[in-house]
Amino acid sequence: MSTNINDHSNLPDIQELERLANEFFKNSDGFSSPPENAFDAQPKSVGGSGISPSAIEQGNAVDLQNPQTGFADANLDPSRSSSGLDGAYAGKLSPEAPKNLQQLPYQDEQPYELELREVLKHLSGINIGAQIPFGAAPIEKPSFYFLNEPSPFILRPDNRAAGATGFIPPFDVNTVRNDFPILQEQVNGRQLVWLDNAATTQKPKQVIDRISYFYEHENSNIHRAAHELAARATDAYEGARKKVKEFLNAASTNEIIFVRGATEAINLVAKSWGEQFLHAGDEIIVSHLEHHANIVPWQQLASKKGLKIKVIPVDDDGQIIIDEYVKLLGPKTKLVSFTQVSNALGTVTPAAQIVQLAHGAGAKVLVDGAQSVSHMPVDVRALDADWFVFSGHKVFGPTGIGVLYGKEDLLNETQPWQGGGNMIVDVTFEHTQYHKAPGRFEAGTGNIADAVGLGAAIDYVTKLGMGAIAIYEHYLLDYATPLLKEVKGLRLIGTAAEKASVLSFVIDGYKTEEIGSILNKEGIAVRSGHHCAQPILRRFGVEATVRPSLAFYNTCAEIDLLVNTLHGLKR
Ligand code: PMP
Repeated sequence: MSTNINDHSNLPDIQELERLANEFFKNSDGFSSPPENAFDAQPKSVGGSGISPSAIEQGNAVDLQNPQTGFADANLDPSRSSSGLDGAYAGKLSPEAPKNLQQLPYQDEQPYELELREVLKHLSGINIGAQIPFGAAPIEKPSFYFLNEPSPFILRPDNRAAGATGFIPPFDVNTVRNDFPILQEQVNGRQLVWLDNAATTQKPKQVIDRISYFYEHENSNIHRAAHELAARATDAYEGARKKVKEFLNAASTNEIIFVRGATEAINLVAKSWGEQFLHAGDEIIVSHLEHHANIVPWQQLASKKGLKIKVIPVDDDGQIIIDEYVKLLGPKTKLVSFTQVSNALGTVTPAAQIVQLAHGAGAKVLVDGAQSVSHMPVDVRALDADWFVFSGHKVFGPTGIGVLYGKEDLLNETQPWQGGGNMIVDVTFEHTQYHKAPGRFEAGTGNIADAVGLGAAIDYVTKLGMGAIAIYEHYLLDYATPLLKEVKGLRLIGTAAEKASVLSFVIDGYKTEEIGSILNKEGIAVRSGHHCAQPILRRFGVEATVRPSLAFYNTCAEIDLLVNTLHGLKR
């Protein structure tokens, strides 16, 4: 069955939804009734129709007074500690421990999940979508190739995103928004509408609390001391590495290197592997879609070593032209480095195919995941990239922390790029023996607290379910695109069939910064400028665009406000 989210004509009205929901609660054994007036508490219009698409699809009956989307942190499992200080850390979590340590701020009581699990027992493994109490239609999975997971609304005992319980709670934008304190911020007397997610994402309370907790209870340098806090900090940091490993489906934690962000990760590969293995005459292929971070480091290397850079062209919709790419590949191609999602246009590239073709030509491949990890499930083993990079701040984590994934053998045969403490096994004045990966690439004291915060962000999106996030954001994109096209004089830049999150445009007669500042007066934050991707904007004959970019906490109502404000430009 296909669902048109713009067609609200056959949806029951809100009173009818309440009545159906109450009836459902009354009739379902073991599932407590919603608190009185729970439905009155629902914020007005989170969807363009007054009802959020996800709520429509799932018939979600979350207690909005008491949303529970936090979750436990694996680091706090009292049974595991790398301290070797027997039970010292674990003891803090024993029943005798101080109350604040028994009930840590980011530990989750999960009553909502428990309730739902209770219901699911009665539904015994039936598709949740088919049991919607509100009587709305279950969604049909969109055809986007990157949404290749089964429906996130189905109980999936074997799904890694679901964790040990096999349980993924339904996605509800109202509940999710309550986790992001900054979304309540007033800007110019209006509630903030954050549509600048491609530049950076906002942080849920779970991430903010986790970082505070680190500084209040765990702060120490890592790996180096036999005292309690060194053990806590090391556990927290290495626990975060494990979370990243699972998030990307890497084969080992040794493949996960913490860096400052995507930019530093690409520079690391250029300045270590590139310096060591590339020689005059070798060729590097990038795509026309690249962010400057995936152009400049290769240019620097090329001019130093006499390498050649070739560029995969895109068509008028901003899609990679695969036939042209194939023509560029040859025996001199040593590296293909490209983005999985364009930050300027939103194009989702056929990443697995590009990787496969590069490997066929004997080249290594780096995938820039800065704009993909927050919008779709990523599996580096399925992708088979040699390196994959992303930034924590674009996936609801802190700034100043990011990840370089690399295949373990490749990392271990690559020379380090920075020297110092932490990355060595032994040092004499004559010789230094380096650690294997990841240590060999983490010289000096890293950003420990923010790595831990990134771990909390990964827990957060994993719990929502990357598949559910991708589908919800796809709704938003589908909702926004035709509405924007109706704005007089508006030209969308980037109209690929496979797109994620980004809606770049220009409007006749207006400078992009003028539009940015008019939207700002309404509390709407969008990026206007060249988005650090000048070559691709010039391919479309512009120097700058206005770029609203979406995340899972955005709503159709916010899109309505954006579009109405743009209509107002002409009035
Ligand atoms: N690649 C892409 C596609 C990006 O969008 C960005 C950030 N806009 C980067 C790389 C660089 O990320 P960072 O500035 O976090 O290092």
